[in-house]
Amino acid sequence: MRTFTKLFLASVSVVLIANRWNAPTFDPESLKGARVLVTGASTGIGEQMAYHYARFGAQIVITARREPVLEQVAERCLSLGAQKALYISADMSSESDPDKALSFALDQLGGLDYLVLNHIGPSPFSMWDGDVEHIRWIMKVNFFSYVKMAWKGLEALEKSKGSLVIVSSLLGKIASPFVAPYTSTKFALNGFFGSLQHELAMKNSNVSLTICTLGLIDTESAMEKVKGKTDVPAYPAADAALSMIVAGATRQPEDYYPWFTYYVAVTKDWFPSITRYTMRNSYTYEP
Ligand code: NAP
Repeated sequence: MRTFTKLFLASVSVVLIANRWNAPTFDPESLKGARVLVTGASTGIGEQMAYHYARFGAQIVITARREPVLEQVAERCLSLGAQKALYISADMSSESDPDKALSFALDQLGGLDYLVLNHIGPSPFSMWDGDVEHIRWIMKVNFFSYVKMAWKGLEALEKSKGSLVIVSSLLGKIASPFVAPYTSTKFALNGFFGSLQHELAMKNSNVSLTICTLGLIDTESAMEKVKGKTDVPAYPAADAALSMIVAGATRQPEDYYPWFTYYVAVTKDWFPSITRYTMRNSYTYEP
């Protein structure tokens, strides 16, 4: 093995061990009775987050558009051990619903310890067709509602020394084909909340802000979209959900799931032509 390769592998190992060593330990008891709002919790990763919080004995408010589905998820949360499980239907593309959902959670829970912003509106997985209206709409759902809810929730989180958890994506760090509207919203989230994270730290705020970077996760909606279009492996939604809950509870600035997304994000600019090649060849496409 060449000296450079040996040195490189040794440095990576040292970084990995140092990271593990320094990682704060997660105390599941800290979530007992915690007041949590999870958006986009009727299905997928948000639903799994609700179930984990429930098992830890939290008090949960969940939101999404479909009330009957939310009702079922809330019932399951109670059976898993949630101290409270309430729901409110809200369409995050509306001007007023993000506020309405947050006010409901604050009123019902008497404050907030965790605000988990996770919802996304449906968006096609295909070549961009020039639909600017769709981009305007998806920015409202996936970005502007996050900004509104974070701003409205900050005061309560400041009081409780709480945490804001933003569910983003590797596609908020690397542009990929077929997802122009979606990836725009995730880049916007990373920019906005990255900036807010600095400002909170500079103001010595009590609020911790965790930005989560997920790879491909095996939710029904994601699997439906990529079916037959990529061989990229998908990872379990329940594990992704737990990883983000632990990162929020231990006040980490970032979370990466699965673990290798961190190395993809860090190394993507080292050899841009390799990154471009990989992104284009990760999908099947017949012109
Ligand atoms: P999902 O299964 O499609 O769930 C989306 C959630 O958002 C549902 O609860 C849906 O419920 C709700 N929703 C949709 N439109 C809405 C609207 N207009 N207003 C309010 N709520 C709305 O998504 P997921 O795969 O679990 O993804 C969850 C998060 O993980 C997202 O932030 C996503 O970007 C991120 N992520 C996912 C993957 C992946 O591969 N799955 C990868 C990277 C990042 P209703 O239909 O009932 O409203």
